[in-house]
Amino acid sequence: MLSWEQSPSMALMPRERAWVEVNLSAIAHNVQQICRLLSNQTALMAVVKADAYGHGATTVAQTALQAGATWLGVATIPEGIELREAGIHAPVLVLGANHTPEQIRAIAHWKLQPTLCTPRQALIFAEVLAERPQSDPLPVHLKLDTGMSRLGTAWQEAAAFAQLVQRLPHLKLASVYSHLATAEDPDQTIARQQQQRFETAIAQIRACGIHPPCLHLANSGGTLSDPTFHYDLVRVGLAIYGLYPAAHLGATAKLKTALQVKARVTQVKTIAAGTGVSYGHRFVADREMCLAVVAIGYADGVPRNLSNSMEVLVRGQRVAQIGAVTMDQIMLDVSTVPDLQEGEVVTLLGQDGNQSISADDWAATLGTISWEILCGFKHRLPRIAIGQALSDSVSRRYEG
Ligand SMILES: *Cc1c(COP(=O)(O)O)cnc(C)c1O
Repeated sequence: MLSWEQSPSMALMPRERAWVEVNLSAIAHNVQQICRLLSNQTALMAVVKADAYGHGATTVAQTALQAGATWLGVATIPEGIELREAGIHAPVLVLGANHTPEQIRAIAHWKLQPTLCTPRQALIFAEVLAERPQSDPLPVHLKLDTGMSRLGTAWQEAAAFAQLVQRLPHLKLASVYSHLATAEDPDQTIARQQQQRFETAIAQIRACGIHPPCLHLANSGGTLSDPTFHYDLVRVGLAIYGLYPAAHLGATAKLKTALQVKARVTQVKTIAAGTGVSYGHRFVADREMCLAVVAIGYADGVPRNLSNSMEVLVRGQRVAQIGAVTMDQIMLDVSTVPDLQEGEVVTLLGQDGNQSISADDWAATLGTISWEILCGFKHRLPRIAIGQALSDSVSRRYEG
């Protein structure tokens, strides 16, 4: 058998111990599938916060824009700056709250668009932006709290908030938005109540003669569950990465997961019955066993709570991970895999042959959500883009 240095397919892979593979064709496919659910009046914002949920913000942003998204959403100013430094000119909404003069100057300098959550925040923005009176007014997005109890002004106070922003110099009202707390719940009672409150707030804003040019409410759950949540813009994260917010939303669009996590076998050995494996000997072999050491661990984002309760794909077979997950390495029972070689690649998340393991599987074992799994992979794992690369014409387009 060829070692990985010699094998032609392995030669296409970087010689990393472990990595995250990001399929850009899947991202493009998911964006197109989501766009298909939207009317011509609704735009798509690709939410690329947290390094595009671990997929790599710039490559995902470029791919999503090419495939039909027209907005980008980030949580923080540095995340927005990263997109600008990559030459991306699409509108970028900063979803988090920012108040300090340094933050406000950075937002204006990098042409990011801020979320305003309170009247006080609007006043600070107007004051800091008065330093540059010659510039165009800054587009701002008003956040209403309709039931999430996170950021935003209480929906009952929306009209006064909008009037204040309308009056302030240097600010231009770009949108009014809110965020759903239970969009993926099959029981839509709470989401409907939030929607009612949102619409009441918008009606009150309009009654003051203010007509927000854009309204938005839906995350992935809202986007997949009901077109009445769509308004002028949908803010989609999870679904772009190919995961469903809940199983019952799987029928709406055919999504493909974009992320795979792979690592190399670094040693293969036989252990005798009765041998303990890894820290604490939380696994003891009940028979002679062939064991593989794989170069990935919790410092890469493999949750230690998966110890002894995860499977890994090896040559298209599911094998058990055994013993405690350590910082840099895990062990597998590969007794069913003949003649496994050092350097072979195993798949922790993703597909191999007709087997696959998803972030939803890990989330179910851990009692968490797929969002947290995706965001958990550390930067020690290089992100390797596979699938469709951007054409020259497209990359030029975003270089302005
Ligand atoms: C993260 C976020 C989203 C995207 O949520 P998904 O469930 O991943 O689609 C949308 N809107 C806001 C305000 C967010 O913070």
